[in-house]
Amino acid sequence: MSEELFVESRISPPALSCPKCDEMLPQKLGEVQCQSCSARVNIEHEGTRKQWVQEKVSCPGCEKVLIVGVDSRPANLQCVACDCQFTVKPNIPKVEVDCPACNRRLRMKKKPGRREVDCPACDKILVVQF
Ligand SMILES: [Zn+2]
Ligand SMILES: [Zn+2]
Ligand SMILES: [Zn+2]
Repeated sequence: MSEELFVESRISPPALSCPKCDEMLPQKLGEVQCQSCSARVNIEHEGTRKQWVQEKVSCPGCEKVLIVGVDSRPANLQCVACDCQFTVKPNIPKVEVDCPACNRRLRMKKKPGRREVDCPACDKILVVQF
């Protein structure tokens, strides 16, 4: 079996900005690196860890609802019902941005740094930065 099964966590750590340069940091716990100034910052958030332990996910194999029981993401789980193994991936927050050319709402993953995105409606390239 080589197929990778996963579900995305619904709980994301708090959005924080870099203490050095004030740019957005990756929304993870533990040691993260600022994409802008390369500073290493250690992020801990007990509330997120507690919610992660108690988070319920549906098994991608049989849809049984399981409690993750692990205080980190990604987390590897084995389903008690169908024995399949899968990964609970970190949540990637999504944001909505208006295309400045056609005002179409675009949903995208919120990742730190500068990016160019093609608007699917009008083909203009917009630059987004978080
Ligand atoms: Zn920084
Ligand atoms: Zn299952
Ligand atoms: Zn557009």
